[in-house]
Amino acid sequence: MDEKYFPEKIEEKWQQRWAESGAFEAEADPARPHFYCLEMLPYPSGFLHMGHVRNYSIGDALAWYKRLRGFNVLHPIGWDSFGQPAEQAAIKRGIQPRDWTEQNIAHMRGQLKRLGISYDWRREIAAHAPEYYKWDQWFFLKMFERGLVYRKLAPVNWCPKEETVLSNEQSSGGVCWRCGTPVERRDLEQWFIRITDYAEQLLDDMREIEDGWPERVLTMQRNWIGRSEGAYVDFAVQGRDEKIRVFTTRIDTIYGATAVVLSAEHPLLKSLLEGSSLKSDVERFVERVREARRRPAAPDAEEEKEGVHTGLFAINPFNGEQLPIWVANYVLMEYGTGAVMCVPAHDERDFEFAQKYSLPIRQVIAPITHEQEPSGFEPRLGVDQSTEMQQAFTDYGVLVNSGEWSGKLSQDAMREMAQHAKERGFGEPAVTYRLRDWGISRQRFWGAPIPVIYCERCGIVPVPEEDLPVILPERAEFTGVGQSPLAGVREFVETSCPRCGGPARRETDTMDTFIDSSWYFFRYCDPHNDREPFDREKVAYWTPVDQYIGGIEHAVMHLLYTRFWTKFMRDIGLVRFNEPVKKLLTQGMVTNIVPETGEWKAMSKSLGNGVDPDEMIEAYGADAVRLFILFAAPPENELRWSESGIDGAVRFLRRVYHLVVRWREAMRDAPRDAPTEFSPEARRIRHATHRTIARVTDDFERLHFNTGVAAMMELVNELSDFRVEPQKASPAELFVMREALEALVVMLAPYAPHVAEEMWEGLGHEGGLLGSGARWPEAEAAWARKEELEIPVQVNGKVRARLRVAPETADEELRRLALADERVRARIEGREVARVIVVPQRLVNIVVK
Ligand SMILES: [Zn+2]
Ligand SMILES: [Zn+2]
Repeated sequence: MDEKYFPEKIEEKWQQRWAESGAFEAEADPARPHFYCLEMLPYPSGFLHMGHVRNYSIGDALAWYKRLRGFNVLHPIGWDSFGQPAEQAAIKRGIQPRDWTEQNIAHMRGQLKRLGISYDWRREIAAHAPEYYKWDQWFFLKMFERGLVYRKLAPVNWCPKEETVLSNEQSSGGVCWRCGTPVERRDLEQWFIRITDYAEQLLDDMREIEDGWPERVLTMQRNWIGRSEGAYVDFAVQGRDEKIRVFTTRIDTIYGATAVVLSAEHPLLKSLLEGSSLKSDVERFVERVREARRRPAAPDAEEEKEGVHTGLFAINPFNGEQLPIWVANYVLMEYGTGAVMCVPAHDERDFEFAQKYSLPIRQVIAPITHEQEPSGFEPRLGVDQSTEMQQAFTDYGVLVNSGEWSGKLSQDAMREMAQHAKERGFGEPAVTYRLRDWGISRQRFWGAPIPVIYCERCGIVPVPEEDLPVILPERAEFTGVGQSPLAGVREFVETSCPRCGGPARRETDTMDTFIDSSWYFFRYCDPHNDREPFDREKVAYWTPVDQYIGGIEHAVMHLLYTRFWTKFMRDIGLVRFNEPVKKLLTQGMVTNIVPETGEWKAMSKSLGNGVDPDEMIEAYGADAVRLFILFAAPPENELRWSESGIDGAVRFLRRVYHLVVRWREAMRDAPRDAPTEFSPEARRIRHATHRTIARVTDDFERLHFNTGVAAMMELVNELSDFRVEPQKASPAELFVMREALEALVVMLAPYAPHVAEEMWEGLGHEGGLLGSGARWPEAEAAWARKEELEIPVQVNGKVRARLRVAPETADEELRRLALADERVRARIEGREVARVIVVPQRLVNIVVK
């Protein structure tokens, strides 16, 4: 141990030692309690940013803590290495996506190692490696077998000039990122996963994770899934055999329906229009709506509601009323059935539509008030209240103008009317979801090929399992125009049919990269398995993940997909639980002042407020950077960057380091067993030590890393105030100092592992913290409590002495101590003690005559 703290030297030394000793390598061991600590795997963009550093510092602190508490800890890392930026780099700079990606991984791996994050590097995986994406393809085949994947037409963003598909990012602002041409929407046949089959489970199983996940994330998922209960109702078309099925969440308002409205894409529309005098009007309108849909909508722009009457009528099955059938742009084919009943009085959008086109507005739900009992309403069937209502009344209430249903409460009517529809055969209760099936086709090169072959004779043929992986070609041409680069690789596309041997071509769409990240943390448990995605027993030992840490931006997509994937894996017998992650922490942003405006904003290159982790490590050391990050804010909160904050972290580490340097020689001969007598100075230190252990432990259990640092800083102040010279300290004092410094060093390890290791060694331990069996210190309750109470002893109302006692001292003992005190005895000698009053933990009052 050097006299001075040299972060760079210490950090290099320990990173090398850890690698040599395999300090962080973990294997399943049923004899030990286990802990799976996981951070979201990074996309290898080329450089770590501070958000990464924060994410991994939090995870690493927890991993260290659990190891020091005796857990067998799995702490792996890998690369979410498929995705568009690699292809963009290929187009811009002529570098193959694989080369670009692997260079980036190599650089970022070096950065992670310089940070000293305690990963088990043997388990590193990368999504673009064939031995990994082979299993993406295998899962696809398993879903194919079970009918969970299917093809359908779906829109993509399309640049008509370059005849190429664009991602959402490439078409932001509605124009092509390369040539500025307005982007169109075009329908392509694409692959979908039937995630909607799992909608109900995705909602129900939230019960299992409610305690461990932020409520905010669960709410976002609930809204994303968007379950609504309602009913289907069939409206017969007058004079035709066809029926129009509508979905409504408010069947109780059906007597207020004054039109039936179809989406422009409704499949019945074509046949309905045969023979309609308004056919050409409607067709023109439908074409206009389609045209508008081809233009990507500006975000948040509210489209003006437009519609056209078809000239046809539908029959309301509840009251036999004839309702005009309209087509309108605000009804979407993707939601419900693509047809709605228009109830202007009780739906805002319908109200707006009805006002524009002068459709009747009829109130059928009345608010419940105390003055007006429901029975006071007379049905007024057929009354148009267009001129009376100023806005839709969308609350639940009491049914009016609703025939035999009038007088019922909305909630009862909804249930009973849906049941009635079912009994009469013109509808049924129903549930719909906002959640859509998961479109996984990407017209891109840099992703896992979808393992499907198209044969002229046999049609769609899945690639046989034994032919996996379908390997992505080493090279392709990246021009950014025309078809996907993969479609241009003839050796890839041209193949033979696995069924009939005839000529066939491969699917050239690749998979959404969210598939790669849906199950990667299961693969960490058995990363090199070439027979199956993973060994079930290994996964059964390590998973579910105990703690997952990542950004809130993944609240919906990734975290929903991975929950779905787990349920699918359960259904095919790979895992035995419903939920993959027990606890989730969403860390806050790292912000810095924007030079131009002085505002605090998330660090970004374009705003000029980014800070390069490498520069910080070089200037202050990885330990100080990590300590600052954990100290500056609770993990969920925004972290405001401050270079003077890192400087403070260095100064703190230096203080601890110097304490160890100062005491370590003298402490060699300190007794191993706790002495029975302590000097007042020693008592003070020992109380401070155990109080700190209790606080830091409690903070770790709640992931409050920042307050843990504050507690250790207080302890260091106490230790620095210790007035005894090391060479003159008594054995008890040396014992107390060693206890304090060892506890401090171990508790510092999760924040600043390199310097903690160095100090641990300096304190005379061989083999590193983990190799020497260092354990997280235990707080002794008696010492951790407020050290001593000072109890005044009064004699006839005057304070004559003060007792220093432990807080748990019994009243009887206080009484004895008070009467035995020399100063008290001098006052009461020769007099009769009339009474002794003990106020517990506060006061002893002796009354003498
Ligand atoms: Zn273009
Ligand atoms: Zn064939």
